[in-house]
Amino acid sequence: MTDTALPERLARAITLAGPMSLAQYIAAANAHYYAVCDPLGADGDFTTAPEISQMFGELIGLWSADLWDRAGRPDVAWVELGPGRGTLAADATRAMANAGFIPPVHFVETSPPLRAAQAKRIPDATWHDAIATLPDDRPLIVIANEFFDALPIRQLLKTADGWRERLVACQDLLFLPIPGKQLPPGILPPELDDAELGSILETSPAAVAILRALAHRLVVQGGALLIVDYGYNGPAIGDTLQAVKGHSFANPFEAPGEHDLTAHVDFGTLGAAALTAGAQVYGPVAQGFLLSALGVDSRASVLARGAPERADQIAADRNRLIAPDQMGELFQALAVTAPGWPEPAGFI
Ligand code: SAH
Repeated sequence: MTDTALPERLARAITLAGPMSLAQYIAAANAHYYAVCDPLGADGDFTTAPEISQMFGELIGLWSADLWDRAGRPDVAWVELGPGRGTLAADATRAMANAGFIPPVHFVETSPPLRAAQAKRIPDATWHDAIATLPDDRPLIVIANEFFDALPIRQLLKTADGWRERLVACQDLLFLPIPGKQLPPGILPPELDDAELGSILETSPAAVAILRALAHRLVVQGGALLIVDYGYNGPAIGDTLQAVKGHSFANPFEAPGEHDLTAHVDFGTLGAAALTAGAQVYGPVAQGFLLSALGVDSRASVLARGAPERADQIAADRNRLIAPDQMGELFQALAVTAPGWPEPAGFI
């Protein structure tokens, strides 16, 4: 669905207040994008691991149930951030119930159409606009698949006179990135002083704030967090901002609100923030490594034995999830746990 009002609103804001931060632009564009459509799946703009195969959600459910069991079976809440169509949660809760783990389900989701899709799969869930209202009286087991990549980033650009924050300017209804004010010296790590002209460094204050708050919750309440996303062990130089529409790439500065804007997740920075908050950190490990350790091959064999006519498709889905040239290496997993909680499966 097209909303001509969003580009016009952004253009008016820029005309009145001057170029806006890239983070503000991405936040406005994605809030609109997720509010008006269900972008997932083969007919949508992009697809995700839980939409490819039930094995993904099932193995994450078993990961959750195993950790809960080894933690002494406490009363926990099971939380998913950005649950999409609710597919991962449906597959995970089925696998968890088979293991005797039937926790209350909490979803953090801002999109009304996706909330409606989630309610069809998990009618008893409790929805939250943000993590602040999650239960504070019990341990949390939190899952986030392709959630952090949708959060706004800032980009810093190396210019002839130092690092500048990239801002978004606008002429008529054409948006474009421009270098903004120079950053004061001493803000960036000194090893970046010699970065080549034109280098881009990305940061996501929104992602770090959520991670810090969750890590603090885990330290106080107990529990664990599993993040799966495409990412890198940063901070590192690189421009990863991308716009996706109908399974192909588009220009992030065209038609804000009509594409999914994402950036790769800096697992190094998120892990460091969790350690600083006093939590334990595992990984990142490759998605292929994690799913293999959790038993994707035996799950695929069981499914294929039960549905021989689908055996080729099941093998292809398994391959798509774990092969290094598919999702297996690009996607990484990071786990954060409360001190005293057992080591999560799949990280060594
Ligand atoms: N985890 C799902 C969906 C990934 S798409 C899957 O793997 O299929 C990103 C999800 O995060 C969507 O559900 C989107 O509506 C939600 N989302 C994006 N930004 C958000 C925010 N700031 N707060 C809460 N949910 C958000």
